[in-house]
Amino acid sequence: MSKLSFGARTSWMLAAGAVLIAFAAATGHHVASFLVTAAKAQAAGQDSVLRGAIDIHAHLDPDGYGPGANGRSIDVLDLAELAEAAGMRGFVIKQHYDQTADSAYLVRKLYPNLEVFGGIGTNFATGGLNPHAIRQMADVKGGWGRIVWMPTWDAEHYVRNHGNDRDFISVADDGTLVPGVRSVIAAMAEVSGKTRGSSGSLVLATGHNEPEEVLLMVEEARGLGLQVVVTHPLLDSVGMNLEQMRRAVEMGAYLEFVSGFTRLPETIAEHVEVIGEIGPEHCIVSSDRGQGRGPEGDAGPMPTHLDGLVAAAEALRSNGFTERELDMMFKENPARLLGLPVH
Ligand SMILES: [Zn+2]
Repeated sequence: MSKLSFGARTSWMLAAGAVLIAFAAATGHHVASFLVTAAKAQAAGQDSVLRGAIDIHAHLDPDGYGPGANGRSIDVLDLAELAEAAGMRGFVIKQHYDQTADSAYLVRKLYPNLEVFGGIGTNFATGGLNPHAIRQMADVKGGWGRIVWMPTWDAEHYVRNHGNDRDFISVADDGTLVPGVRSVIAAMAEVSGKTRGSSGSLVLATGHNEPEEVLLMVEEARGLGLQVVVTHPLLDSVGMNLEQMRRAVEMGAYLEFVSGFTRLPETIAEHVEVIGEIGPEHCIVSSDRGQGRGPEGDAGPMPTHLDGLVAAAEALRSNGFTERELDMMFKENPARLLGLPVH
């Protein structure tokens, strides 16, 4: 599809969305169901990048608001419907404050052709750096809980840099990982390859941590044979430079870039340059969508996960990335990360 027709359809949808949201507000109708219907209609002529894609970063209801009062735009069943209609291979339900292996089990019962996974955020709500929570996730029926995110919203780096005054979780002290991080990673290695019923492997995803902390965690997890992904290294919540990203890749980690980079010309340019330097074979593009409904610095409804992936693909394509390279970043590398066969 041409960029022009994509843009035209998107603006039509945004305009229609604004009208319907006003209508919904007046009548009490649910905006989310409109968004799902509109996105389904859009999916009819959807971008080929979605066919076989696995979104490893899908925020979805039911979820809590968390410290930033972040609502979610759609829920796990809504995304399953959209993903199936677009021919996606699957997605990973990311929640900062819960484990989602149980949601993944239930979605798979309704959508047996989708490969849906869960994970766990190691923030205060799950006991922080709590190896018992990791073992429990692996023991949930189906064994679909696969990604362990290191501290995000409650991480020291994140709390300090967002002007918050609340308790936080430290992952390293004086250049050394704290014992809690080591025991979480050790628990992951212990259950990896043995999740209940599906014998899945576990993946360490770094959190909202300082770059040097990220590298320590990558080293520890890779040393125990785990697959590792560095969560959005270019966002303010992490802030890695090229040399630090190269070190992570040299240790065998994937770098995950999230679709919000399409928001500004500067962030598109930055991502194009970094992915080009690092090489698409080491990169994964995910949506990080599902953020609360309402404005995101501009008027209009929030993009869905699918919209995010398509916008990211369009931006990369128009900056010279090939379909082969997009397949690596949206389809194959997410599969490899999760220990799945690559089609
Ligand atoms: Zn996110």
